[in-house]
Formats: sequence, C-alpha cells, structure tokens
Amino acid sequence: MIKAIRGTRDLLPPDTALWNFVESIARQVFREYNFQEIRTPIFEATELFARGVGEDTDIVSKEMYTFEDRSRAESEKGQSLTLRPENTAGVVRAYIEHKMWERPGVQKLFYIGPQFRRERPQKGRYRQFYQIGAEVIGPTTAGSESPARDAEVLEMLATLLDRLGIQGWTLQLNSVGCSEDRPVYLEALREALKPVVGQMCFDCQRRAETNPLRVLDCKVPEDQPIIEKLPRMKDYLNESCREHFQQVQDILKAAGVPYVLNDRLVRGLDYYTRTAFEFTHGALGAQNAILGGGRYDGLSEAIGGPKAPGIGFAIGEDRLVLSLEESAEAVVSKPDAYIAPLGPGMNAEAVKLARELRQNSVIIEVGDETFRLKKSLETASKIGACFAIILGENEAKSNAFALKNLATGQQETVPRAELAGRIRKI
Ligand code: AMP
Repeated sequence: MIKAIRGTRDLLPPDTALWNFVESIARQVFREYNFQEIRTPIFEATELFARGVGEDTDIVSKEMYTFEDRSRAESEKGQSLTLRPENTAGVVRAYIEHKMWERPGVQKLFYIGPQFRRERPQKGRYRQFYQIGAEVIGPTTAGSESPARDAEVLEMLATLLDRLGIQGWTLQLNSVGCSEDRPVYLEALREALKPVVGQMCFDCQRRAETNPLRVLDCKVPEDQPIIEKLPRMKDYLNESCREHFQQVQDILKAAGVPYVLNDRLVRGLDYYTRTAFEFTHGALGAQNAILGGGRYDGLSEAIGGPKAPGIGFAIGEDRLVLSLEESAEAVVSKPDAYIAPLGPGMNAEAVKLARELRQNSVIIEVGDETFRLKKSLETASKIGACFAIILGENEAKSNAFALKNLATGQQETVPRAELAGRIRKI
C-alpha cells in the first residue's frame, strides 16, 4: 500500500472544518487590522533561504528540501531550488521584486500556506506543516521601524487567539538587539562559553561555534545551571534598542496585553533583530510554541533590497488546531435536512427540491429512490441531519412533504413554500 510520506498527513473531515474555522477567523481579524493577502510560490531559489534565514541555522543547514532543477534546454541553466521552510524570506523577496516600497505607507501582508522542514516528526511537529503569518514592512519614513508596529502586531495576535477561544496563552517577549550591539554581545557570549562549553551537550558544543545565541535555547536539564550564568542580551542593548523595547512594552501595557519577559528567548532564524516573541500554550506539551515572530530590520538588505525594516510572525496552524481540538464538534457543519426519495422517479423530484432548499441556504443531503424508508431515516440520523423530508409520489403531487424532526421523532406535513423557513427555524 502506498502511504503518505513520514511527517506529512492527510487532513480529513471533521478536522478540516476546524482548519476552515481558524482560517476564516484569521482572515476576519486581518481585515480589521487592514492586512491584505499575499501568495508566494512554494519553492524558491535555495540562495534566498541561505542568505535570508542564515546558513548556520538548523533550518538551512539540515532541514531544507533542496533539489537540483535540471535544465530542459541548452539555453536554460540548472538551478538549486528549495521547498520553502518559512514564508518571510519569500514575502520580502516579493516586496523587493515588485518594488512595493513605491506603494503608500507600510505594507501589511498576510499569508496562509504549507511550509516544509525535514525535522524529526512528533506530535505537533511535521515535515509539511501550515503557517498563518503576517508581515509589516516598508521604508523607515513610513514608520516601519516604530515600536508602535511591534505593539500593533502583538495586540492583533492577542485578539486573534482570544477570538478563536484559545485560553491560557502566554506572550513571551525579548529583545535580541541589532547589528550594532549584537556582535558585542556575541563576543561576550563566546568568551563566557569557552571555559564551560566542554561540560555542555553535544548540540551546545556545535552551537557555541556556529550560532552561540542558540545555546540559550537549549532544553537539556544538565546544561541549565551553566546557561543561567551566561551573559544576557538585555545588559548589552544599546540606548536606541533599549528605548525601542521599552516603548513596545509601554504600548502593550496601555493596550492591556499581558506578557512576560524571557531573556532566553532567541529564535531559530538569523534575521531577527530587536523584538522577538513567542506565544506558548500549556496544553501542547513539548512543542508548546503556537507562534513565533519578531522584527527583521536587516533582512531586505541581506537579500539585496533597499532598507526596509519589518516585523512579522508565523502561527503554526497545526498546533493551533491541536489546541482547539476539544471544541471541534461546535464548528462541524451537519446537514439541516436529508431528503428521502421513495420509489421510482423520485430521484428527479428530490434533486428539484434540494436545489430549491439549497438556494435558501439550507444544507441538504439527498438519499436515493432505491432505499427503503427505514434505511433512509437511519442514514439521516447517522450523518447528524436535523430533519428528514419524505418524498413519495403523493407528496410530489400534493406539493406538501412529511417533515420529520429526527431529534424528537415528531412529524408534520409542510407545504413546499414553507419548508425552508420551517427547517431554518431550528
Ligand atoms: P518559525 O517559523 O520556526 O518561527 O515557527 C513559527 C511557528 O510555526 C512555530 O511556533 C510553530 O507553531 C510552527 N512550526 C514550526 N515548525 C513546525 C513543524 N515542523 N511542525 C509544525 N509546526 C511548526
């Protein structure tokens, strides 16, 4: 048997109803905050991620699905392509390619779509997963660097999670500095790591060389006392980064958005500057980050564009849906009525009636004229329909139908013109 590839999965009903619910609420919230949709390709030039996300990140160094796209003609060059592991680099590439800075104000863009990373699959971690994300990007003169942008994005996320009915989230906030103060901090971190790194886990030993910031991310219990003693970014922030971070917090306080400071929060992608954040949720276990994001003031320049500070986030839609799963029943749509055609020639009548009712926004499932009434009523109950409409030759002639309430068992005769109204009343 051919099966779905490890780390990928089929999304089936009724779960898909929950996915649609999440996406429709997200689209509604994005509209209220004046974000518009962008759709970028699922594969891009490998170089985009190498330069954007960073060569030394786990994502680029070991998790990308990269392949050589062979040339099909003499005139064509082969090219290394990669299935996108995240969407921010693609959005910023599109921003540059289409000179979007020429449009008025800052660009507020959102996306919903699959991403690909070759990670070790486990609950809440997949190789094809879905992100709902957004970016605010633009020239400095449009206010793209302002702490107000950061605060608006964070406040919007709090609204979105509340709107989805997700309780018990925590916003974890940090500042990871900028291109000016971070190198100084990294140097201090490297120095502090030198005498102790030998006692740390294998991953930390590697990270200390390649990406020392990621040592702060380590979850290995034995390493924790060592990490606790390492220098912290907050003591190295320059004046303007410190002021920026303070203002983000002041606006969040004014807006009533709760947060906790976490000075060990670093993100797995190199492009982050200043504000970095995650929303976590207790019920998710080890993979407890529902979403993450931050500012990326140098990303556009890193991939060859103009200065275009920005801030964005990506919600792990798979995890969001997992944390909503208990309430799944509530959003699954069931048919309002099941039409049970009885006897030869009644399939055609059923289609006519179904068409009329559906035009009145009634959700209809149709049986088959070869079914006995008992089988039709059983099916109607099993699929969760509220009513069964019995449609035999007499009903077709008299234009009045037996409408059976499947919860109470009550049955009445309802004229054709009143059917939709009667069904919708429940
Ligand atoms: P990142 O793009 O790494 O900042 O991740 C943003 C969010 O995407 C995370 O907080 C997760 O919720 C989600 N995410 C990242 N990687 C995976 C994965 N392999 N499977 C499922 N969700 C993921």
